[in-house]
Amino acid sequence: MTGLTIAAAKTSDEVDADLAAALAAIVGDANVLSEFEARRAYAHDRLPFANFRERFGKLAGVVPRLVVRPGSDAEVAAIVKLANARKVELIPFGNGSGVLGGAIPLHREVMVDLRRLDQIVSINPQDAMVTVQAGMNGMVFENALNAEGFTTGHLPQSIEISTVGGWAACRGGGQASSRYGKIEDIVIGLKAVLPDGTPLEIRPVARRSVGPSIRDLLVGSEGAFGIITELTLRLWRLPEEERGVVLALPSLEAAWEAARRIMQAELRPTVVRIYDEAESRERTEGLDQFKAKPILAILVFSGAEPVLGAEQTAALDIVASVGGEVAPDGPFRHWKENRYVAYSQKWQAAGYYNDTVEVTGNWSAIPGMYAAMSAAVREIYPKIHFGAHWSHVYPEGACQYMTIRLPPMDEAEALPLHSRLWEALQSLTLEHGGSIAHHHGVGLFRNPWIEKELGAGLGVIQKIKDALDPDNLMNPGKLGLRGAAGAVDLRRGEV
Ligand SMILES: Cc1cc2nc3c(=O)[nH]c(=O)nc-3n(C[C@H](O)[C@H](O)[C@H](O)COP(=O)(O)OP(=O)(O)OC[C@H]3O[C@@H](n4cnc5c(N)ncnc54)[C@H](O)[C@@H]3O)c2cc1C
Repeated sequence: MTGLTIAAAKTSDEVDADLAAALAAIVGDANVLSEFEARRAYAHDRLPFANFRERFGKLAGVVPRLVVRPGSDAEVAAIVKLANARKVELIPFGNGSGVLGGAIPLHREVMVDLRRLDQIVSINPQDAMVTVQAGMNGMVFENALNAEGFTTGHLPQSIEISTVGGWAACRGGGQASSRYGKIEDIVIGLKAVLPDGTPLEIRPVARRSVGPSIRDLLVGSEGAFGIITELTLRLWRLPEEERGVVLALPSLEAAWEAARRIMQAELRPTVVRIYDEAESRERTEGLDQFKAKPILAILVFSGAEPVLGAEQTAALDIVASVGGEVAPDGPFRHWKENRYVAYSQKWQAAGYYNDTVEVTGNWSAIPGMYAAMSAAVREIYPKIHFGAHWSHVYPEGACQYMTIRLPPMDEAEALPLHSRLWEALQSLTLEHGGSIAHHHGVGLFRNPWIEKELGAGLGVIQKIKDALDPDNLMNPGKLGLRGAAGAVDLRRGEV
């Protein structure tokens, strides 16, 4: 045992030898993990609340009862069938980089670690598609495509620590989303195993008109509607050229106005990033232009001439018309060099309570939403670090990505504050007509707000879940759906 002070009953400490043997008959002994320490490594993902708890020797959920590592679609199907026959709960596991607790076991689940499904199946340049197994590491995948002169354009900050299947399961977004779209715009087809073990194939076809999209039941499913084993994604040729432009703008309003008009003018910069004053200051120290124009924005244009130059000129004309000007490119180079670095662990290790919350607002709502949120978090804790940036922009609106950070303090004081901050940010999003999640998904941490987000839609997805998974075996208690009887009830803020 470790030094954890969690109740033994919650650790699923008894290993089910019979189940382990049955799983080993499918995947081989080496691919069933039953040792406590090995299972313990799967008791969390990157949910900050779980991290806060672990600093104090506690868990957010439980230690899973077993871990199984399938190496083929057929093995995944056999595992799901076995789980059905024995009423065993399963959690698909990508790489555990989710930040909402989607992969945290809460009952007596078996983790299905998909990282042995790690191959590119085929590259099809003519139809501009790549087919890849779901457990492939994101960076390994992108590097392999780059070596052949291609990209999918899906470049999340977590690309080095996440899988392709995890991207789709969480309905994620990459840093180049303004040009290539979010993952739901990039997935063309997929293979999955439904909760009863039935294989499902969405054939990759350019478009179809055959009723509601079954693909979209799996894209964003967070493990609750099946296990994705393979994906076919859009493929693009690597751009010939890329140009980063740093901008100094007089105000946030001017920056939002420029981004809105750029997207509504059908221009598609690869990257658009606007930082609020707090985040701009951190990145522009010593740069004179930002004394008078304190808002930093970064635009990246890519492609080939003459379109590249024309797009850049048209976008910079819009920027100039709102009072923005081009600044030295240091902040672009710094962003590019650090685009895949995770900062949160540094703060967690130093005892801070660091978290991020990403929401979507329409352009008409963003100014009021941002002002209300800035005021609300300071009312909850006046010395809070609060910063925001807008890095996924659309003709209709943008993702507002916020960092909240409380200084080191007692857990009993910090967790209720953390809980109130989330409540304020999620409720204000809804009050301003936005969506509570842009790309991190729901997991378990956003369960409290999902009903208000979806309305009658939550009943629809619960009914679909009940029909596909009548015993509630696939990742129960996530996505705002019903949990398993007797599962750990994660009450945020309670110590
Ligand atoms: C530092 C940092 C930066 C991040 N930046 C971004 C970002 O830029 N953009 C972004 O979108 N997200 C980001 N995230 C969040 C996270 O990386 C993504 O949600 C990622 O897509 C999760 O992938 P994973 O493979 O690690 O999945 P996991 O964390 O293992 O799983 C996440 C959820 O998906 C389910 N799941 C995983 N694989 C499958 C599968 N094959 N079939 C069915 N269900 C499955 C799990 O059951 C779970 O519910 C970031 C996280 C961190 C820690």
